[in-house]
Amino acid sequence: MVAAYNMPVQTHNTNAYETALAQFDKAVRFLSIPDGVAEFLRYPRREFTVNFPVKRDDGSMEMFTGYRVHHNTVLGPSKGGIRYSLAVDMNEVRALAMWMSWKCALAGLPYGGAKGGVVVDPRALSPRELESLTRRYAAELIPVISPHADIPAPDMGTNPQIMAWMMDTYSMTVGYSVPAIVTGKPVNIGGSLGRNEATGRGVITAMTEALKRSESLNSRNIRIIIQGFGNVGSNAAARAAELGFTIVGVSDVFGGIYNPNGLDIRALRAYVADSGDLRGYAEGELVSNSELLTLPCDVLIPAAMEGQITRDNADKVKAQLIVEGANGPTTTEADDILNGRGVVVVPDILANAGGVIVSYFEWVQDLQAFFWDEDEIFRQLDRAMVRTYEATEHTAEEYEVDMRTAAQIYAIKRVAEAVMTRGFYP
Ligand code: GLU
Repeated sequence: MVAAYNMPVQTHNTNAYETALAQFDKAVRFLSIPDGVAEFLRYPRREFTVNFPVKRDDGSMEMFTGYRVHHNTVLGPSKGGIRYSLAVDMNEVRALAMWMSWKCALAGLPYGGAKGGVVVDPRALSPRELESLTRRYAAELIPVISPHADIPAPDMGTNPQIMAWMMDTYSMTVGYSVPAIVTGKPVNIGGSLGRNEATGRGVITAMTEALKRSESLNSRNIRIIIQGFGNVGSNAAARAAELGFTIVGVSDVFGGIYNPNGLDIRALRAYVADSGDLRGYAEGELVSNSELLTLPCDVLIPAAMEGQITRDNADKVKAQLIVEGANGPTTTEADDILNGRGVVVVPDILANAGGVIVSYFEWVQDLQAFFWDEDEIFRQLDRAMVRTYEATEHTAEEYEVDMRTAAQIYAIKRVAEAVMTRGFYP
């Protein structure tokens, strides 16, 4: 029996891809690159769809659909996460793959962009079913992944254990261990110290860079709201708390809590580690995910998913600074509204680049079989984030544009120049 809910029937995420294309079209106009090159960069290079069976615990067989898109591979192997979510569809994966191309180029990494996903709610599977699904999906991806061609990593709904199963499946197929096939693995099989914390830590580095430059926020006791309490949101919260910032609101898929006096992030993380989610945590007022975005704060960190700040709520956002932990949380219309209101948006491809930056360190360590200590990882990560922030800022000044357009201009220019240097084949 095929369970209909796993099949990619909806076109829900057409919007993410429309957003990615609109951002590209806006930025590319500032660059004097040949139309043919711009057109080439607009397309995903390869798109791979797989339909595969998984045996459920009750003995039944169920079909699942997965994707892997390589957007661009001019600067190096393509890089990007694997998402497990019912909202995954080809357009979402295309958008996320394109954003990875720009994110890697902006951070100066020798990578192209890719993304993958499986249409599944991972919470609905037992651990054994999750392992079977992951191994079969990894086996289906073997024609398109390799440590020199395309390197997956975690994203929403996936984690280090899932990366370990992918690494093991690939390694068993080729006959020897290939740690560099994925990043975000557990440390005991070739993962990098600091990879788990990397995205959240990088988000907070980007935030502090933006705060330093803000006249109105510079000296204030900053109140932060974070939407999403997964790997990115919870690690951003922990890092912000460590640096002495006050977190007044957080949420997960089930809803949010708000406490104007500040939340105890250590207690919150312990609660979530214990119970699986935020439901039932009593130290604040219960709010919905959409309410959370418009409550009083200085900095808003959307760290959940695409399309959260839209034309319907952008004028109600109280924050003066938005730092995008998620990929694509702000729609194009919302961007225009926020820019018009003078709200500074530190864009996703800059703000959340810490994850792929440490993924790059992990891949380098695996290829060299030589591992760095945590201090070295964080020092290099912090430097890379500040350098990437400054590159974006200089571009914004040079072209007189907002930070998102600047980040896109810088990244697209870097890839376009590489395309022109290499030339078109044949
Ligand atoms: N999924 C993460 C992202 O969106 C990390 C990708 C990676 O480390 O390759 O940036």
